[in-house]
Amino acid sequence: MENTDRRTILTTAALAFVGAVATGNPARAQAGSKTIFVVPATTIPIVGESDVFPVRRIYCIGRNYAAHAIERGSDPTREPPFFFQKPTDAIQNVAIGTVVDHAYPSLTRNYHHEVELVAALKSGGTNIPAEKALEHVYGYALGLDMTRRDLQNAQAAEKKPWEIGKSFDHGAVIGPIHPVSKTGHFTKGSISLAVNGTVRQNSDLDKMIWSVAEQIAKLSEAFELKAGDIIYSGTPENVGPVVKGDVLLCKLQGLPDMSIKIV
Ligand code: MN
Repeated sequence: MENTDRRTILTTAALAFVGAVATGNPARAQAGSKTIFVVPATTIPIVGESDVFPVRRIYCIGRNYAAHAIERGSDPTREPPFFFQKPTDAIQNVAIGTVVDHAYPSLTRNYHHEVELVAALKSGGTNIPAEKALEHVYGYALGLDMTRRDLQNAQAAEKKPWEIGKSFDHGAVIGPIHPVSKTGHFTKGSISLAVNGTVRQNSDLDKMIWSVAEQIAKLSEAFELKAGDIIYSGTPENVGPVVKGDVLLCKLQGLPDMSIKIV
């Protein structure tokens, strides 16, 4: 190791130690220090507001509609909910009333759509009871949990993490957030996705195995939920591939449509 490298590491370690003493958390910068460069914050527009929603974490629930669980090869009657995360900056915002270009990602040859209701939290906690869970929801949005299915399946077959199939750049497509104060909570209502005008996914939110409230309760047993967390609540059956040129139209009863074009 070069001396300069060693010095850099020692200095960094010393700074981290000071930070740990000052804040009790080595992951937080010490008081008075500034970051060496800026990492842009991820935000989502809010309908009717000039202020925006800051995203802390993106949680997704897997196989939350019985017919989709079956098509993915699992038994919907016995499985507890399971979750995965996408990186915060995987968000791609899609404005209302436009068709937004969405880049076909690298590595995949089987790129799938999954239309989903997304819940956005304004507060959180641990071990939240289901009957109190919806009090933490700030609003809802339409989302697409885009999936590199071939990579996901290949990883799953080898009992490896789904990361490369789910947690890639722009893989968390989302419309603007609608505050609960204007829409109420979403426990039922049709949800659908069409590709080039042909309906592919078509179901109802009341067919979720685990409701949004139950998802929040279950998630909060495993993680401390906080304001800024968003939860993709699972997709109905008939997920399928898209190719460049396809236009996807997502509908959720009570919200404006969301549309992207694969480019
Ligand atoms: Mn999904």
